[in-house]
Amino acid sequence: MALKIGLDIDGVLADSFPVFRTELNKYYGKNVLKIDDYDIAKVYDVDWEDLEIFFNEKVEYLFSAPKIMDGALETINQWLASGHEIIIVTARRKGLEEKITLEWLQKNSVPHDKIVFAGGASKTIAVREYQIDVFVDDFMSNALEIAALDVPVLLLDAPYNQGKLPEGVVRCYDWEDIKCQIEKRFFS
Ligand SMILES: [Mg+2]
Repeated sequence: MALKIGLDIDGVLADSFPVFRTELNKYYGKNVLKIDDYDIAKVYDVDWEDLEIFFNEKVEYLFSAPKIMDGALETINQWLASGHEIIIVTARRKGLEEKITLEWLQKNSVPHDKIVFAGGASKTIAVREYQIDVFVDDFMSNALEIAALDVPVLLLDAPYNQGKLPEGVVRCYDWEDIKCQIEKRFFS
């Protein structure tokens, strides 16, 4: 059976949060050690409008500097070799963010069949449209929305996504774990 595997970028494919944190600390003169709330404005005690300015100013660096997550490439290449399809669905936006993202994917040799820049729209639209079988994300709200469609979600563990998980969402601790969970769920 060939699967359509949906993948998020920030916090899943790209180890973005350490880069965001370092830059945010510099920008706001703070020393936050852990982003433990997905609402970064709350973590830095600033307005979203202010944060928007920060992100727009630094977007080139913020989206090009993150390293690829350990083990991601190996797993994706194995999935593709097994005939699965890789569909990246990110909340990043079309235009400049899209351009930087495509360059990052190329630089890191991340193969994929499709990429959707959802922007502010719900990822469920792409999950439905492309009939994604399983989705990997790190944002609890996305996980809940996608799981509500009866599409299983693997939630990559992070300080900002702690808490009880509903049925259909499985916590994974690294890419090896993600690979094993898919193996277990669909092929055993
Ligand atoms: Mg993410």
